[in-house]
Amino acid sequence: MRICRFDNNQLGVVQGNDIYDVSAALALLPKHAYPFPDHDLLIANLESLRPRLMQLMENAPKKALTDVQLLAPVANPGKIIAAPVNYLKHLEEARADKEIHHANQIGEIQRVGLFLKANSSLIGVSQPVELAHPERRNDHEAEVVVVIGKTGRNIAAKDALQYVAGYCAGLDMTTRGPEERSMRKSIDTYTVLGPWLVTADEIPDPGSLAFRLTVNGEERQNANTKDLVIDIPHLIEFASSFYTLNPGDLIFTGTPEGVGPVEPGDRIEMELEGVGTIAVNVTTMETV
Ligand code: MN
Repeated sequence: MRICRFDNNQLGVVQGNDIYDVSAALALLPKHAYPFPDHDLLIANLESLRPRLMQLMENAPKKALTDVQLLAPVANPGKIIAAPVNYLKHLEEARADKEIHHANQIGEIQRVGLFLKANSSLIGVSQPVELAHPERRNDHEAEVVVVIGKTGRNIAAKDALQYVAGYCAGLDMTTRGPEERSMRKSIDTYTVLGPWLVTADEIPDPGSLAFRLTVNGEERQNANTKDLVIDIPHLIEFASSFYTLNPGDLIFTGTPEGVGPVEPGDRIEMELEGVGTIAVNVTTMETV
């Protein structure tokens, strides 16, 4: 099933080129008083809601995908975890290019571990990526994104895929420079997620997903998750040995070789096998 959020926080199921508005299901989510839970309510209840979503689709108002604004398919991730240098050829290019490494040592992922991106950086594909420091180099990083479906801690790799709600395409946008990754990759709009969430049952083997990224139609990245240094089950094992994973937590699995700069006016497209295509425009941040 393909789940999306669109327009005014409506809930949709995508089939072909249509969106079925199943927002009525949102009324079934548990009500929470302040403080709100640190997980995403929709993702936490997605399995139990699925039969209702199917029912609602029978009489749901339908819209063409081209007529809606797609929002990030996960509204309230508790945290956004990301894997640095998780493809060997990207490690090599990062070590070779001083515009990428900025005299920071680029270590292997097994040694440097994972990092976190601010939740406030998250957008869906209807919003542009707004460069905060256009005078610096700002790179695209195409990544397969795992959406965690249930709570777990110290999850073994062999059990890990049972904790996955689904998959999305993602962009881990990055300002290059000497600062910590978490600062340079947490700028507002620098985490793109979409176009929708494809539930895990539709992706039987996340270890073999082809994806490619173009800028203004020119191919920059072309890779497959079979080349991940730490594959998805072991990323979940690694992350959950440090953090409790909760429904709606996102894991950006790392970018392959071919990262490169974008400028205001560019259009970035990423196509992910089994999921779909995300396309965003690049602009500069409005100064207020
Ligand atoms: Mn990345």
